[in-house]
Amino acid sequence: MSSDPAVRCSDVTLSYRRHPAVHHLSGSFAAGSFTAIAGPNGAGKSTLLKGIVGLIRPDAGTIALEGVRRSDIAYLPQQSALDRGFPMRVVELAAMGLWRRFGPFRRMGGAAMRDVEAALETVGLSGFEDRSVGSLSGGQFQRALFARLLLQDSRLILLDEPFTAIDARTTEVLLDLVCRWHREGRTVIAVLHDFDLVREYIPQTLLLAREQVAWGPTETVLTEENLARSRRMQEAFEDDAELCKRPAA
Ligand code: ADP
Ligand code: MG
Repeated sequence: MSSDPAVRCSDVTLSYRRHPAVHHLSGSFAAGSFTAIAGPNGAGKSTLLKGIVGLIRPDAGTIALEGVRRSDIAYLPQQSALDRGFPMRVVELAAMGLWRRFGPFRRMGGAAMRDVEAALETVGLSGFEDRSVGSLSGGQFQRALFARLLLQDSRLILLDEPFTAIDARTTEVLLDLVCRWHREGRTVIAVLHDFDLVREYIPQTLLLAREQVAWGPTETVLTEENLARSRRMQEAFEDDAELCKRPAA
């Protein structure tokens, strides 16, 4: 699996207008690993994903990718960040996952269309092809976004709270798909809130509270002690949010 991507963070600090949201993070997401990012609200979880995708540049340290180009990462943003008002059909939204291979939708041939239909079937949206995305329920919209991710066929997949506010049946279908991606040797990183789900399905966890609290096998990371520490660290950061307590390396 040496061609699979790894993500290496070296003393990474990510900030908004010089207010650090992720502090001095070092560590690696190994090739083919499946990692949950957990932590309190405001811990920097979404910020770290944006840093990996390249939407935010580190103001210190580096995030190095191996085996994948930044532009080839499959990224699902947190749902609140998405605008569902755009006039687009389900089939067009899913087909966006193929743009890198085929160019704009109109130029796609029959084989590509069959791929799109198969992806929609995988996520349980057969028959929804011509529905406008604005008419979908939250769970159906998330399924359509997963069809797009599936078609992207990326070796590195980043998911930001993919199952938050999603019905149980949809969660089951999409979690199954994510576990399949992991079995296929893809590198998967997912921000998740449901510790029970993480303990059951996700082998590795990074617990974040602006800085790393713990990073490794899930059962050693998600201990009561570490969770309590993450809450204390997060509260301390909120008390003096503008200070960087450790010097940059
Ligand atoms: P999490 O995903 O762990 O809940 P975020 O990464 O979204 O946390 O946010 C980390 C910190 O950065 C929070 O204090 C948040 O208010 C701040 N933040 C997030 N996005 C922005 C933004 N676009 N501009 C300014 N500050 C932001
Ligand atoms: Mg977030």
